[in-house]
This record gives sequence, C-alpha cells and structure tokens, in this order.
Amino acid sequence: MYKITLIPGDGIGPEIIETAKNVIDATGVVIEWDMVNAGLDVYAKEGILIPQKVYDSLEKNRVALKGPITTPIGQGFQSINVLLRKKYDLFANIRPVKSIPGIRVPFSNIDLVIFRENTEDLYIGIEKMISPGIAEAAKRITEKGSRRIIQAAFDYAKANHKSKVAVVHKANIMKLTDGLFLACARDIAKAYPEIQLQEVIVDNMCMQLVMNPAQFEVIATTNLYGDILSDLCAGLVGGLGLVPGANIGNSMAIFEAVHGSAPDIAGKNAANPTAVILSGAMMLEHLGEKDSADLIYLAVKEIIQQGEHITKDLGGNATTTEMSRAIIEKI
Ligand code: NAD
Repeated sequence: MYKITLIPGDGIGPEIIETAKNVIDATGVVIEWDMVNAGLDVYAKEGILIPQKVYDSLEKNRVALKGPITTPIGQGFQSINVLLRKKYDLFANIRPVKSIPGIRVPFSNIDLVIFRENTEDLYIGIEKMISPGIAEAAKRITEKGSRRIIQAAFDYAKANHKSKVAVVHKANIMKLTDGLFLACARDIAKAYPEIQLQEVIVDNMCMQLVMNPAQFEVIATTNLYGDILSDLCAGLVGGLGLVPGANIGNSMAIFEAVHGSAPDIAGKNAANPTAVILSGAMMLEHLGEKDSADLIYLAVKEIIQQGEHITKDLGGNATTTEMSRAIIEKI
C-alpha cells in the first residue's frame, strides 16, 4: 500500500482531482490518500494559504498528486506552486506531449517530452520598482541548475532510445544567463555521442513547433521558456486539458497537470479530467506500477478515440464526471 498526499487545489482542481483519484483506485493499486489543501479556498476558511499539515504530509509521503492553485495576477501573494517547487527543490518539470488519435488537430505524430528547469530563471521572484514607470526583474541561471535539468533530459533520451535533445535558449541576447545554460548543454552532450544536440533559439522554436513539431523528441529548457512552450505544445495536441506533468526532485515528486485552475469553467463539471488523470498515471509509473499506468493510458486513449464521452474542449458534450466514469469503465 502507498501513502500519497492529495492536494485538490482550487478552481477546477477539486472536480478533476476527485476523478483522477477514482480512476487510480480503479486500477487496483492500493493507496491511502492523505488529503490536505492549500490556496484560495483554504485561505477563505482558515485564513492561511498553506497550512502546516500540507508540509507535514508532503514531507512524510514524498509523493503527491496535486490540482491547480490560483495565483493572483499583477498583485497579491506569490505562487504557491512555485513556492513548493523551490522549497522541495523539485528541479525537473517533466511534461510529455503526445498526439491522441481521434482529436482533430493539424498533426497526428507528436511525441515529445519537455524538461523544464523548475527552480531558477525569472521565477526566483526578485522584482523591484526602480522609479515610477520603471520596474526590473532578476533572471538567475546557475551551472548546477542547468546541468541537472539538461542531464535529466539526456538520461531520459538515452533510456528511451530517443535520437535527439533540443536545447532551447536565447543566448544570442542573454549571453551570460542563457549562454551559461547553452554551454552546459554543449558540455553534457559530449557524454552522449549517440544523441544529437539540437540548439534552437526560443523564437525560432515557436515557429518550428507549429510548422513541424514531429522533428522534436526531447526538449530541455529554462523555466520561463519551458512554461510557455508547454502551453504551445498542449495546443498542438488538442489543448491544456490533455497534458500531464511531474515536478521531480531528489527526494520528492509532485504530479500535476500543465493547466491552471481555469476559473472560467470552475464549478461547472465541464473541465477535461484527462491531464490530471494522466498525471496520476505518471505517478503510478514513478511508484513502479507500470502495468496499472498502462491501463489508464489505454483507457483514456480508447475513450477519446470513441468520442462519445468527451468534454466540450475536445468537441463533445460529456461532463467531467461522465468522461471519467467512461474511463473507469474501460479499466
Ligand atoms: P488555465 O490553464 O487555468 O486556463 C487556460 C484556458 O484553458 C482556459 O480557457 C481554461 O478554461 C482552459 N482549460 C484549462 N484546463 C482545462 C481543462 N482541464 N479542461 C478544459 N479546459 C481547460 O490558465 P489561466 O487561465 O492563465 O490561469 C488560471 C489560474 O491558474 C492563474 O491563477 C494561474 O496562476 C494558475 N495556474 C496554476 C498552475 C498550477 O497550479 N500548477 C498552472 C498554471 C496556471
């Protein structure tokens, strides 16, 4: 039996986390879920954004499935998601993006994994008003932070028989910060002669991805570019409702979808549960339960391909509950 921390989050979080939990339970893997929460809903009730019990549960269980948590725009508290990633040094944000048959999108052959550095870059949150009308932000890139995410991408490529890793940067303009990231990539690539290093400047990467995404297998990049490219890639395969993710460190792993709390559809039973269900499947793989993870991958694929029980974002009429129930019946 596994003990797993379950963080519903806010917005669409509670609706989709419940469905993911039910899907995972349906595989037969026995999990004792430790449900704790953080974010706006908790603040409204308890006057605190992250109660101590969230930290206690994470530190005890070391594996979590998490829903999205809203971050106020332009003001208010700092991102709880970013805080957890930094506090527990969850340096690798791993986001697989794969075409699913049955979804009407221009490409059907996308199969890539984004390795986004998760603790540095402009996300360190150092910003200041220099004078009225002038604000500055600090971008931090370190050799240690760069090497470990690039190493993770190459190790993944090698283990999964991939032939290339694209390192995405803007070292032509940010010569020191992105220059350091690129230099680390060139150095690490030397140890993997069988894997081609693709060096791609981020603006070109955006164009390459929308014109010919199948040329990429593994993408390694810094925090902000990784965040933006993730949503771009999600759009290529049918939207944010489909792409899962993992935040991995040396001693903890938090699994969550790429998407946010989607306030525009929260509380309507309309969210696509696929991304968080697939994040749950990634969690099962991390636990060594590959066969159970495969049951979920297959069930999701079949339900989407059939097209009868899919949510509105995929062109269907099913509610979150109906889609997840159909997935559970396939398992
Ligand atoms: P979002 O990802 O929440 O939504 C963007 C668009 O995609 C919306 O139209 C939404 O309805 C749609 N969408 C997202 N998930 C969907 C799903 N499962 N099914 C169907 N449609 C879906 O991005 P946003 O609106 O820019 O951000 C909302 C909030 O979420 C912000 O406060 C942001 O900071 C936060 N956020 C949190 C996380 C996280 O918790 N890891 C990640 C990203 C954004």
